[in-house]
Amino acid sequence: MFKILRIVVLLFVLASVWGTYSMQQSIAEDWSGVVTIKIIPVIADQQLNTAKFVRSLRPKDFDEVSRYLTQSAKGYGLELSNVIQVDLEAPISSAPPSIPQAGSGRIDHIIWALRLRWWAWNNQLNDHQDYHIRLFMLYQSPASGATLSHSTGLRNGLIGLINARALRPNKRFHNVVLVHELLHIFGATDKYDIATGRPIYPQGYVSPNAKPRWPQPYAEIMGRARQISADRFEVAERLSQTRLSELTAGEIGWLK
Ligand SMILES: [Zn+2]
Repeated sequence: MFKILRIVVLLFVLASVWGTYSMQQSIAEDWSGVVTIKIIPVIADQQLNTAKFVRSLRPKDFDEVSRYLTQSAKGYGLELSNVIQVDLEAPISSAPPSIPQAGSGRIDHIIWALRLRWWAWNNQLNDHQDYHIRLFMLYQSPASGATLSHSTGLRNGLIGLINARALRPNKRFHNVVLVHELLHIFGATDKYDIATGRPIYPQGYVSPNAKPRWPQPYAEIMGRARQISADRFEVAERLSQTRLSELTAGEIGWLK
């Protein structure tokens, strides 16, 4: 009896978590109301150096995120300066469930996605404010030597997990990854070859019709890198080296 009751309670909680997220998702998609993006730093490896780095983060470190989105939207005739709000929250030290290994089955991914939502729900902020999107920045010390797993933006759940080295010079690059994952949450697709990292022609190019085709002046934000010759490409290290293409703008609902 107790076991059944526990399952019923768990299902009820999952359904309410799911319901909240579906509601938030529709709010985030039409770009008419304020879209709040909460950045939550996570001390993912419990290291002192990481904690020190995380405590040194300031809201201005993420200012360029809203600036980039606002400026990009302006290019498509959309005024977002009062729409996008980026807030830096207090750090937490609870790490999320690990992303299933490559080649894991569909069931593993479903269980992971549910566990992730449960974890995020447990780590939400108790300030009773409305929020739409939560981006967890998972910082790890470079000294730990661990390889970073890939970052993820879950559209159905409005959650992003961004893996980052706790290194001051990497801050600008972190914002590139952050915006990339954020755009996944809004519905943008990857425009690079996952196996090689190479931007896919033509969708991963900012200027696919340029003659000569190389070097491309910018990296498309979902293509991650700019092709500089037939066999060389350069991964963008800062947002100013990227542009948000018309294709991506269409995917995230900026083109009416
Ligand atoms: Zn991606």
